[in-house]
Amino acid sequence: MSTYITIALTKGRSLPLSLELLATIGVEPAEDISKSRKLVFDTNREDLKLMVLRGMDVATYVEHGIADLGISGKDVLLEHGGDGYYEPLDLGLAKCQIAVAGLKTEAQLPPRIKVATKFVNIAKRYYAEKAIQVDIIKLYGAMELAPVTGLAHRIVDIVETGNTLKANGLVILEVIEEISTRLIVNKISFKTRYASVQPLIDALEKATT
Ligand code: AMP
Repeated sequence: MSTYITIALTKGRSLPLSLELLATIGVEPAEDISKSRKLVFDTNREDLKLMVLRGMDVATYVEHGIADLGISGKDVLLEHGGDGYYEPLDLGLAKCQIAVAGLKTEAQLPPRIKVATKFVNIAKRYYAEKAIQVDIIKLYGAMELAPVTGLAHRIVDIVETGNTLKANGLVILEVIEEISTRLIVNKISFKTRYASVQPLIDALEKATT
């Protein structure tokens, strides 16, 4: 077992927010993460390292205990569906929603609709719970285009301000889940490295409430 604790952070829009939060609890990377191609970073604390990964990979690295802690969006955790980690804290960053959206004015729908999303598991679960049979179409970006072009009748996507939906003539039909950034902890690390992990959780809790 390594002698240090590793925290996995999510690349992209939430990274500056996560780094700002870590700075408030006295944890700072030893170099500028945005200017480096490295994936693992030393910090000002000898007992802590940071890893910068894609969202889904944060959950996977924490699930397998390679990273002890992770900071990840709830959307990714719902989609990942892993069970090797606890989710002790809502850090309250990068707030948004996962919602079903469709065209503002839509023609008659067929009995079995098509739903485009990158959140295939979330969408499947949502429609299964409602006992509605749908065809899910996996997309990797620009979900809003799907109803406009006729690829799908609905999308399941992240909405923050709603501006992207509006700009494409779409409206929210139902909110599936409120999303924000969460702290996750590997279940085994939580037990075997409690003395190092719990103070970090406490400090982050204090900094976010
Ligand atoms: P908005 O126009 O503000 O509703 O933003 C919606 C677009 O930004 C969608 O295409 C989303 O995929 C993306 N987006 C907004 N907020 C987030 C977030 N917190 N995490 C990931 N993607 C987001």
